[in-house]
Amino acid sequence: MRCEILSTGDELRSGSIVDTNAPYIAKRLEESGMFISRHTCVGDSEDELIDILKEISKRADIAIVTGGLGPTNDDITSKAASFVSETDLVFNEEAYETVKRFFKSRNVEISETNKKQAYLPQGSDVIPNKIGTAPGFICKVSDCSFFFLPGVPFEMKKMLKEFVIPKISEMNGDDKIFNKIESVTLFNLPESKAGEILSPIEANYKYVRVGLRAKFPELQIKLYGTGEIENEVINEVEKAKREVLEIASDWVVSEDGLSLAEELGKLLVNRSETVAIAESCTGGLISSTLTDISGSSDFFLFSGVTYSNDAKMKVLNVSEDTLIKYGAVDVETAKEMAEGARKAAGATYGISTSGIAGPTGGTEDKPVGTVCIGISSESETKGFKIIYKSNFRKINKMIFAAKALDLLRRYILKLNMN
Ligand code: ATP
Ligand code: MG
Repeated sequence: MRCEILSTGDELRSGSIVDTNAPYIAKRLEESGMFISRHTCVGDSEDELIDILKEISKRADIAIVTGGLGPTNDDITSKAASFVSETDLVFNEEAYETVKRFFKSRNVEISETNKKQAYLPQGSDVIPNKIGTAPGFICKVSDCSFFFLPGVPFEMKKMLKEFVIPKISEMNGDDKIFNKIESVTLFNLPESKAGEILSPIEANYKYVRVGLRAKFPELQIKLYGTGEIENEVINEVEKAKREVLEIASDWVVSEDGLSLAEELGKLLVNRSETVAIAESCTGGLISSTLTDISGSSDFFLFSGVTYSNDAKMKVLNVSEDTLIKYGAVDVETAKEMAEGARKAAGATYGISTSGIAGPTGGTEDKPVGTVCIGISSESETKGFKIIYKSNFRKINKMIFAAKALDLLRRYILKLNMN
């Protein structure tokens, strides 16, 4: 069965609000074994709505439409549905009862305009709305069953769960498909290169599609399995995942689709270890990324954004000689910063960054995009110099922060750090 989703409303079409209904419905329906072939969005134009309903009725078996069921003049969905289904808009007693019940439960007098919501295309089945005024309805156009639901997300969600999904499952019968998605996170591999090395995988599997999703500066590899037989889908997705892990092993950050920061946090918690951070050019980004993780207080002890040389000396105990001899952007300085942060906090590890995010401030020796990163543990302190060829300040800050997190992850796991 082919299923489509249509979101309606000028505020969605124009981009004033983001469509959260369509992805929610798609996810819930796919979990219930439906295949979603398309999402569409139209504004509050009756002609546009009629056109798209006609189009969908020709290619889908089931369609979920949200929005435009309210009592106001811009709520035109029922009218458009009656036009396409070639039926009259008639007063529906059952729908009116649900509207009345809602107002009664709120102790509010029902108004004449709300009566409009009880006019549905003739022959429609009512989808009860227990928490809002607009009843939904099912209306058939050609061979497609349209489920019309209100746009208000919490009303739509309740009706989808309690009525629409059970009804569709019943209609779907044995014609179910099974979906399984797995994600692997990579870092330091350009998207085009990832596409190139992973492209042969898909051909080995009947039910698996390999998707790449850039979550800069990380890259997610998604394995989408879809098929009728649950075991086969699971087996194929697992096998395809093992292939990805093998082919991209040098760049794999998380086997479960976690971010670099989440993976590092998990690693530290599992080892009962902690980290302290000294940031210069990343301006607190590493600390912010790490503290975005719920429970980060279990591993995150301290962070200092030591921008000036003075701060580097006073807070982190970086020696004046080092700063004079090598400058602030140098491996030696970064090492002392990392060590200083670790010692100041009594943490297991210290990380530091000092670099030139640009677009100004670069020299021939230290061009924009240069970052020096320090990684310190009780037994040793290592320094790294990386040059990333970008002139964009924000991009550079993001990449510098990610490199620092990845270097600590690699250090802890004793992986190659070059
Ligand atoms: P109402 O009785 O509130 O008029 P309705 O069925 O007519 O309900 P709309 O008027 O289209 O629904 O939308 C009501 C509100 O619900 C919108 O202002 C918007 O905030 C939200 N909404 C509608 N559609 C979506 C969507 N696809 N994603 C997220 N929010 C939505
Ligand atoms: Mg409305």
